[in-house]
Amino acid sequence: MIEHLDRRAFLGLTSTAVLGGLCGACSNGSHPPQPHSGNSHSSKPHWSYSGDTGPDHWASLSNAYKVCATGADQSPINIASSEIKGTSSRVTLVYRPVSATSVDNGHTLQVNVDSGCTAIVDDTRYELRQFHYHTPSDHTIDGKHRTVEWHFVHESVDKNLAVVAVLVNLGTQNTAFAEILSHPPDKNGDRLRLTSPVDVAAMMPSDLSALRYQGSLSTPPCTEGVKWIVLRSAVEMSSDQVAVVQHVLNNNDRPVQPLNGRSLQRAAVTVE
Ligand SMILES: [Zn+2]
Repeated sequence: MIEHLDRRAFLGLTSTAVLGGLCGACSNGSHPPQPHSGNSHSSKPHWSYSGDTGPDHWASLSNAYKVCATGADQSPINIASSEIKGTSSRVTLVYRPVSATSVDNGHTLQVNVDSGCTAIVDDTRYELRQFHYHTPSDHTIDGKHRTVEWHFVHESVDKNLAVVAVLVNLGTQNTAFAEILSHPPDKNGDRLRLTSPVDVAAMMPSDLSALRYQGSLSTPPCTEGVKWIVLRSAVEMSSDQVAVVQHVLNNNDRPVQPLNGRSLQRAAVTVE
């Protein structure tokens, strides 16, 4: 069961006031704490990636975050090649360029997209709501982090989530992310409407082999029941582009969580 308020916060569909309540108390190395936006009654406690409010303490910050410690299907995980089973399923991404708004929410740079992109997973349609990054990657592959990981968060009509993860290696400039990363929001809480539609399909790697597993949000409230589709082939971003996301917030990865007997299954992904 997924709590709707927490889900809205995760999806970035909140009003400015709620966004301020969620993230106004958040701080990091490059951004000073911002005052609450008239939302001091917010029940969302501050969480972060280090110190007393870091991942080891998320569950103790709020009853709403308990599953961060008690859950058995948590994300991210280490993806061990030896653990991937032969079962294959089909995932179809129906993506077209969509208008979008980028937001610095204090935990990551998040791009909220207008409707128009869907993922079809197990015959269920999920609509792309937003995408955001973690650096280094949340998931590890055979014990190794990638430089960045983008999460494309999709939601079904019955409020279930499917997240497509795209890993990034350091390399050449990635033109699909060029506008987003050339004009990032200045500071925590800032929102910026992008002048051109975002071409989400162009953000996917050409090799779409993937694996699937059942996991959770990798940030509080760590809600479970999330279908993860991790694309195994990485895309590239230039050192300048990586520096942009690291300036927004660096080291926003959660440590990998125990697999607890979950299966990793191959998936055949197509983009239409
Ligand atoms: Zn994420």
